[in-house]
Amino acid sequence: MNVADSRRVASALEHLDYQPVAKAEEADVIVLNTCMVRKSAEDKAIGRLTSLKALKKRKPSLVINVMGCLVGVKPSKKLYERFPFVDVFSSPSDPRPLIAHLYAQMGKDVEEIETAGRFAWLDGDIALPIEEQGQLVSAMLPVMDGCSHACTYCIIPSKRGREESRSPGEIMAEARALTEQGVREITLLGQIVDRYGLDKPGYPRLDGLIRQLHAIEGLQRIRFLTSHPNWLHDDLLKTVAESPKVMPHVEVPVQAGDDGVLAAMRRGYTADEYRALIARAREIIPGVSIGNDIIVGFPGETEEQFEKTVDLIRELRLDVMHLARYSPRAGTVSATRLADDVSEEEKWRRFRVLEELQEEISLEIHQAYQDTTTEVLFEERHRGRWKGRNPNNKLVFVESNEDLRGQLLSVKIEIAGAWSLIGRVATK
Ligand code: SAH
Repeated sequence: MNVADSRRVASALEHLDYQPVAKAEEADVIVLNTCMVRKSAEDKAIGRLTSLKALKKRKPSLVINVMGCLVGVKPSKKLYERFPFVDVFSSPSDPRPLIAHLYAQMGKDVEEIETAGRFAWLDGDIALPIEEQGQLVSAMLPVMDGCSHACTYCIIPSKRGREESRSPGEIMAEARALTEQGVREITLLGQIVDRYGLDKPGYPRLDGLIRQLHAIEGLQRIRFLTSHPNWLHDDLLKTVAESPKVMPHVEVPVQAGDDGVLAAMRRGYTADEYRALIARAREIIPGVSIGNDIIVGFPGETEEQFEKTVDLIRELRLDVMHLARYSPRAGTVSATRLADDVSEEEKWRRFRVLEELQEEISLEIHQAYQDTTTEVLFEERHRGRWKGRNPNNKLVFVESNEDLRGQLLSVKIEIAGAWSLIGRVATK
């Protein structure tokens, strides 16, 4: 989501004739887009921000804009006091304060600033940053902002605000614009993406939106993330199964395998309900791959409870796992009411247990690809190899001197590792 937001800002800045530079030292405007989901992300953002102070001192005309979850829905007084060298604070996904600031600096009048502000909001009329036009193969497209779910550990709802779906017209326009600029694959984004449209009477639901997007000529692949187990309904699964452009991959986090921990997280489902969902997904979409998030060391998580997560993963054998150690976030229910009582050492141990298990599972799943062919959409060169993904979202590398960017090709897999597949182009 932050990548998509940063792209919006870059695009808005280019409309004002700014150009990208290689180093922060050369810039007239610096936008720092920030994440707060875990403390490590927050520390990184603050570290970077602090390092910009010296630049601003050397070059007072430099405009520094902090954007994203560090700012939240509204910048706090504390933030202004702590970072007086920042010129503009803006909420997640919103380039308008920066554009308004730059326009005002140029001496434009209020009306022009407002027009620019509206433009910066994009209305679906996105021009990719120049460097990415004709280059970007796979793009993220946020279909909704915010989140209204209340997982007790999560800071996102308070930082990104209430859930709000973007209009289908705006989304379609953006998808068409992206496709016209060379994009071949679009990933629809939302914190609970399968809740798309439910907040707005008259909007289609995600399956309806996907069916509309499916008609866009030149668009070859559609993906979506992140799903929530309670909202990933059969209609959506069927749409994935029936629509050739929609890739057979879902990202649906379970977070924990123990019902007590799930209840304390207020996820709204049990481990058995998750099991049933995975079985249904596999039945409706044969060959579907499944991604999952897990948090280890949630407050009060006992060894026994953790073992239930291990058992669940061993049983379900999902394709991908995004693992996190619990990180108390200020203002969340779990940070306020529950002691962070699993030691760092123990969090790391649990992390490694699951990491090793997943490595084993992924390797086994990947080995089934050995000597088979799979369709790969190539995105970019990466360390001398072409990098792409197959329908199941597996990373595939191919050695080739040709320009494979944006091409959809059959690849024969020769080496299967836990994290990626390596092969050669089978047909052309
Ligand atoms: N809305 C999506 C994505 C949320 S952020 C969803 O609910 O799936 C991505 C992941 O970060 C979450 O799935 C969760 O596993 C992790 N996460 C969120 N808050 C966290 C916290 N306080 N500590 C550790 N991991 C966290």
